[in-house]
Amino acid sequence: MVRSQPFDVAIIGGGIAGLSVALRLPEHMRVVVFTKGQFGESNTRYAQGGLAVALGADDSPALHFQDTIAAGAGLCDEAAVRILVEQAPEAVRWLIQLGVQFDRANPGSEGHATPDGLLLGREGAHSRWRVLHAGGDATGAEIERALMAALRARSSITLYEKTFVERLLLRDGRCIGVEALDCEGQRFTLQARATVLANGGAGGLWLHTSNPAGATADGTALAWQAGAAVTDLEFMQFHPTVLVAHNETHLISEAVRGEGAYLRNHAGERFMPRYSAQAELAPRDVVARAILSEMQAEQTDHQYLDLRHLPAEKMHARFPTISALCRQHGLDLAKDLLPIEPAAHYCMGGVLVDTAGRTTVPALYAVGEVACTGVHGANRLASNSLLEGLVYGVRIADELAAGWNGTARAALTHTATLITYDDALEADSIPFACVDEQTLRCTRQELRQLMWRSVSLSRDQEGLLTAQQQARALRAQLAHAHVEDEAQPRLVETLNMLLVAELVIAAALERRESRGSHWRQDYQGTNVDLAGHRFVFLSPHAARCAQKEVAVHA
Ligand SMILES: Cc1cc2nc3c(=O)[nH]c(=O)nc-3n(C[C@H](O)[C@H](O)[C@H](O)COP(=O)(O)OP(=O)(O)OC[C@H]3O[C@@H](n4cnc5c(N)ncnc54)[C@H](O)[C@@H]3O)c2cc1C
Repeated sequence: MVRSQPFDVAIIGGGIAGLSVALRLPEHMRVVVFTKGQFGESNTRYAQGGLAVALGADDSPALHFQDTIAAGAGLCDEAAVRILVEQAPEAVRWLIQLGVQFDRANPGSEGHATPDGLLLGREGAHSRWRVLHAGGDATGAEIERALMAALRARSSITLYEKTFVERLLLRDGRCIGVEALDCEGQRFTLQARATVLANGGAGGLWLHTSNPAGATADGTALAWQAGAAVTDLEFMQFHPTVLVAHNETHLISEAVRGEGAYLRNHAGERFMPRYSAQAELAPRDVVARAILSEMQAEQTDHQYLDLRHLPAEKMHARFPTISALCRQHGLDLAKDLLPIEPAAHYCMGGVLVDTAGRTTVPALYAVGEVACTGVHGANRLASNSLLEGLVYGVRIADELAAGWNGTARAALTHTATLITYDDALEADSIPFACVDEQTLRCTRQELRQLMWRSVSLSRDQEGLLTAQQQARALRAQLAHAHVEDEAQPRLVETLNMLLVAELVIAAALERRESRGSHWRQDYQGTNVDLAGHRFVFLSPHAARCAQKEVAVHA
């Protein structure tokens, strides 16, 4: 069923990226926003530490640029990073105008602040205090609250919540809208002149993750099925400090280490100075691997975060959300050693876009965690992802508002290796079967276990090949499955996870070196020839178009 007249812009996602696009578009444009869960439920909502921007008196976009490039381990796209850091101050001012209330210094109070009184936090691999935060450690919740309030006040924006986008519509190779399932399981289509993927991340593919349940890589799967190129999927960031308690995992922000917390092993040793001169504030990949190495040496499944030497009252006030979370698990943030482990956190790769947010499919854009602009390289600098969603969201909206050329698409550059990945399953391996929610749950659990076992902090060819076979076999079991109407979104979500897992594994197999968050046990060195070099994956049909494109741009 086709619903309503065509929209100007369809946006899939209600986190910082999608909402920035929606709110920045002029009011005369007809805009629709989809979220698969309730509005406000997104990775954005759970962001703790904050949003990086060079606003301090001793800071500059040039320093922010340097830190981002250094953390990215030789893979950042410098032009994209320059745009990120230089356009950040203005984009943040716009965010504040929309109603986001970042924490401010009280007159005469201690702490680092901008000249106009915004408090600044410090996080790993940042050379300056530059992280704006809200509600102490509830930055994402405040951003989501303010943007949702602004959105609801706009009558030109149609909101579809609990509506699952399952497919992109194409005509003559160009994206013309979406097919979606509403909360009653009714399928409908909507046409739009431009479609923006802002679906967020992929943490849900791993057994241990900081992400909420909805991070199932839908956007990457939608783009891939529409023939868009994807890249850098081998780079999944594992956050060093996720609290492990009662079989639950909860992020403990890097800002806690920014305030001076230590990491300790079971012998009580503060071990990070042995691994890096930056100690606890080294880039995330370095800290996460150091924790893994201590866990392996001690044969334990966690290490400890220690705030006991820091002023208790100040810590509870600075981190109210984390403090409450610890209390729920019988821990006192300031008095107890907190058991932590690394867990899947942020996907640096995704749908390949240029600096205008265009994918390789005309009229299809991508922004936020689902997109790969190249700003994060092989390892994201803390608090740069909310910023990326904001800055690049604004850029996409400004391009669309300026009367865009609907045929433009991202060009593939000659610094990439193009790889055609054939995801077709052998027809006789696919059973027709009715499956229920329980089967889908089991499949997802199996996938998450195998990704954790073989595709996490340490990888090798043998494990990756086995994982690839297993992921493919799981996808074959569901490819022709039938479910009840209301379970249809869960089935598509599960298939999306399986497909993207295969692409992640293919990318991890291809990069035969260790760089940033991608650590190959069988290729432990960094290959200088692969600095700045991307592996770009295309489906067989898209590959044929890309060859022509490369001939033009190389
Ligand atoms: C616990 C935690 C703490 C973090 N802390 C920080 C931090 O301090 N600073 C920082 O910079 N970053 C932080 N991050 C990362 C950051 O929060 C995310 O990268 C960022 O919020 C992603 O924003 P987004 O708009 O791209 O996607 P999201 O905020 O994840 O939004 C995705 C949206 O897409 C919708 N969607 C997805 N698939 C479909 C579909 N098929 N159909 C319809 N709708 C769909 C979802 O419903 C949702 O609305 C943190 C992440 C986590 C999990």
